[in-house]
Amino acid sequence: MSEKRTEIDQLGEFGLIEHLTKNVKLQHKSTLKGIGDDAAVLAINENEVQLVSTDTMIEGVHFNLMYTPLKHLGYKLVATNVSDICAMNGTAEQITVSIAVSNRFPIEALEELYDGIKAACSVYKVDLIGGDTTSSLSGLMLSVTVLGRAKKEDVTYRNGAKEHDLVVVSGDLGGAYMGLQVLEREKEVFNANPNIQPDLDGHDYIMERQLKPEARVDVIQFLKELDVVPTSMIDISDGLASELMHICSQGKVGCRVYDEKIPIDGKTSMTAIDFNLDPITCALNGGEDYELLFTVKQADFDKIKGNPHMTVIGHITDASEGLYYVDKNGSMVELQAQGWNHFDKD
Ligand code: ADP
Ligand code: MG
Repeated sequence: MSEKRTEIDQLGEFGLIEHLTKNVKLQHKSTLKGIGDDAAVLAINENEVQLVSTDTMIEGVHFNLMYTPLKHLGYKLVATNVSDICAMNGTAEQITVSIAVSNRFPIEALEELYDGIKAACSVYKVDLIGGDTTSSLSGLMLSVTVLGRAKKEDVTYRNGAKEHDLVVVSGDLGGAYMGLQVLEREKEVFNANPNIQPDLDGHDYIMERQLKPEARVDVIQFLKELDVVPTSMIDISDGLASELMHICSQGKVGCRVYDEKIPIDGKTSMTAIDFNLDPITCALNGGEDYELLFTVKQADFDKIKGNPHMTVIGHITDASEGLYYVDKNGSMVELQAQGWNHFDKD
């Protein structure tokens, strides 16, 4: 290591990954895709590929145990990993789970965590096949590696979007972020006065979006049934704007998405307005919805049209046209992505 010291926040999360991995050379023909997508893609036989992805969750960064039930946390840990396999248009089959835990946690707490992990394994039909257990000086760290499978011709990468393709999202957006806002607010109220009961009434939907998200295995199944292979796909973990930037930068294209088309549940909008936030901003920049963002050829429009789980929000343009969303007044606003600056000090 040289004397030079450069702060991580100069690069941001994605810049850092790029910086650390830019000289990595693939040495095996079986590595069809290494770094840079929702999962790596490995050759296993003539017709199928293996998919592999890892995600880590750290206490105090990704979850706060003051308001996160351990059972939900275990479920979410598996769901978010399965979501990365969905984003490749594949099926998750196995996971390994690694935990680092301080002696602050009794065995009963870890049993609860595993109840959630096992519940998700049963819902998503994945086998828990191993992992690692170690001690931690502070807090709880959880890491899952998920293995999946897809037919070769079905695999969808982040980089396949072409001009004129339609931009589609599953489900609705912004709910997980608003759920987090409510939980954080009630945490502050509780810290100020522990006698006040948390007021979570009417917030079930957004709370569930935050605490117990689902991987959209159903959407992958619908796409199969409709005989649609998206031209590109990513899961929405960091907010729509950030994921659109990945799709466009990797595909070397631009996009136009329309404010009024972005699907936002009424409960999400109402809560956003209560918090003096613009619901669209929450959908664009709030993370953790774990919906799918994908592009399809225009010719496939008839197949997905009217499907209640999928909404066309815009289209892909030439790169020279940039990345914009069109607001209700018809003004073009350039997309900015907060997810690109995870290490920002503020
Ligand atoms: P996702 O949000 O879908 O989990 P990430 O943004 O975490 O994806 O990662 C983007 C890509 O960078 C993935 O291919 C991932 O495997 C890779 N990656 C992330 N961190 C590292 C690292 N420390 N070393 C090597 N590759 C990494
Ligand atoms: Mg992903």
